[in-house]
Amino acid sequence: MASDQSRQQQGQTAKPLCPRCHKEDLVKTSLEAYRSGISRLAPPPMPGRQTRMINLVGPAVVLVGLAIFFIFVVLGEGVSGLGGPGLVAQVIITLLIIVAALVVSFIAFQRVVKSDAEATLRYPAWDRALENWRHLYYCARDDLIFDGQQGKVVSEEALKALLRVEAEPPQVAQQSRSAAAPSHS
Ligand SMILES: [Zn+2]
Repeated sequence: MASDQSRQQQGQTAKPLCPRCHKEDLVKTSLEAYRSGISRLAPPPMPGRQTRMINLVGPAVVLVGLAIFFIFVVLGEGVSGLGGPGLVAQVIITLLIIVAALVVSFIAFQRVVKSDAEATLRYPAWDRALENWRHLYYCARDDLIFDGQQGKVVSEEALKALLRVEAEPPQVAQQSRSAAAPSHS
């Protein structure tokens, strides 16, 4: 079915020749190859939030629930007129829980902001990886991945490097780029 699809699409988009068998009849785009089960040609994942909001909001909600429970207990004892040190302790506990809930919420908010910033840093890398991925083709006859623009075979290692989406600090990114620059082959 996948090969039928690729044959239908051949009329619309010209495919590059495979660098090994010099034919294009079994050449698939990266997307077609991925859909037909070549998992190593999976499109680079879009950078998302690493911290799940719910993981951090959950404890805050529990704390607020506890605080509400204690407030009702305090109110109930206040109405029944017991009062005393027990009541003071409960008021303090309630206040502590509310403060804790606020602190947890604040930490949660800060973490979400931070992971958003980190995701933003990864977008340029993702853009690059996606662009690289679009240029990749797969020859089913030779089971090889190649670059459609350069007509060169892409090794497994090179493929990982092409599709890597990583947030690197700017200085480190520059260093590794100059170090990994293929000035001679
Ligand atoms: Zn081939």
